[in-house]
Amino acid sequence: MSEKTDPQQDLPNELAHKLSQWHQANPKATLTEIEAAVEAELAIVRKQLVEKLAHETIGEQKVPDCPQCGQKMVKNGQRKRKLKGKEGQTIQLNRQQWRCLSCGTTLFPPG
Ligand SMILES: [Zn+2]
Repeated sequence: MSEKTDPQQDLPNELAHKLSQWHQANPKATLTEIEAAVEAELAIVRKQLVEKLAHETIGEQKVPDCPQCGQKMVKNGQRKRKLKGKEGQTIQLNRQQWRCLSCGTTLFPPG
């Protein structure tokens, strides 16, 4: 049985390595301080993962039909959208806006 190498698998190792370096630099850290350091690192990773997955979802969007006249819509640039994540983090997403060349309707797909 051979295991496939998944790049995501490196993430916890990287995190553990980073935190053990931090701990070496802060050998007298209290449990509370250690927990805070772990939380801070996890929060960064969580935000990166959420943004990465959200962007992948956007990349898979199909060209929508105009809800007004049924023509294929064209890309009309992306709009930034800020979401509040857990613990008050701001997660920034780019949303694709679509525009109908026939009637000028613009559309933000839900999601
Ligand atoms: Zn239209």
